[in-house]
Amino acid sequence: MIEIQFWWLVVLPLFFGLGWLAARVDIKHVIAQSKSLPSAYFKGLNHLLAGETNKAIEVYVDIAKNNEETIELQFTLGLLFRRRGELERAIRMHQKLLARRDLTESQKEHAQLELAVDFIKSGLFDRAENLLHELSQTNAAKEARVELLAIYQQEHEWQKAIEIAEQLRDESHTYQHEIAQFNCELAAAALVRKQEDQAQAYLENALNTHRQCVRARIMLGEILYGQQQYQAAIDQWLQIEAQDEACISLIARHLLNAYEQLGRINEGIDLLQRFLQRYPELDVVDLIYEQIIARQGVDAAHQFVRERLRDAPSMPGLRKLLEAHLLVAPDDQKPEIELIGKLLHDNTREHTMFYCRECGFKTRQFFWHCPGCNGWETYSPIRGKKRKHAE
Ligand SMILES: [Zn+2]
Repeated sequence: MIEIQFWWLVVLPLFFGLGWLAARVDIKHVIAQSKSLPSAYFKGLNHLLAGETNKAIEVYVDIAKNNEETIELQFTLGLLFRRRGELERAIRMHQKLLARRDLTESQKEHAQLELAVDFIKSGLFDRAENLLHELSQTNAAKEARVELLAIYQQEHEWQKAIEIAEQLRDESHTYQHEIAQFNCELAAAALVRKQEDQAQAYLENALNTHRQCVRARIMLGEILYGQQQYQAAIDQWLQIEAQDEACISLIARHLLNAYEQLGRINEGIDLLQRFLQRYPELDVVDLIYEQIIARQGVDAAHQFVRERLRDAPSMPGLRKLLEAHLLVAPDDQKPEIELIGKLLHDNTREHTMFYCRECGFKTRQFFWHCPGCNGWETYSPIRGKKRKHAE
């Protein structure tokens, strides 16, 4: 009995000692973690802010190795991999996350959404589409629909895009521009198949969704023009003034052609000149200049561009004036005028391009759908101008 009590006297303090040691080790570990983690996070963040994604990834991979349980960190890494274009690594990271059993419902939905985006970026649309459809009854339904809409636009599945956009409509975003444009895309495809009635129906849908849809108006006029209904085409196109006057530039040449077909070209030229007086920025000076040269000669054309430059001074106007000046100037002045014209041309190239107001993407051709940012109706119809978007 005495012996046992003696043993307890030895063992008990030992247990206490071990417990104390264990607790101490644990506390030390926790303190070390709480101290090291934030500083490492900030280090990573600093790299991110400096645009050094590679260095940020190194830091975060390192943290993740020692903190496998940190779910949010794995999401961050997945995003970073994707941003750096390492899509396979992003996919693996999000698949690993999705396989975990300790995720909350919303973390699971988030991981599934991120994985779908990885698949979209990799061009694996079918796999993305399946994942996104599975999310349609969850709290992530809206985000999933936004991604589905991106897929359908990339795949030119305009009917499906319309359905999704209808579901996404709310007060903050009506999607009326987009839905009208999707209908215009359907109309364009119908025209390729020579189904004009079908195309007209899509264009009417476009205008019912968005009364100011200039593209639908332009296309309706083009169908009528193709059917040799020139006056009806003109009537369609003249409505563009009330929709968005800057877009008259887009249809000016067609408009003149229609007047020419009716044997009333002068009426067309007068009309364009009146538009130009009302909207001095309109991109129709070249067209009118061309017509005046052909019909009234270089002196009248020269006079026209001089007046234009006086009323609305601009670099393209000045270039045009030099071009006209070259035609009427004495021979000994021509080399200088040519030189000035060339210098001006080289230094004002940006005035000849169309710009996207969202991403600044510039192109020689006008687009309804920006190839840079995939935005709709983000291009100004006036060359060299970055126009604000009218909702
Ligand atoms: Zn853009």
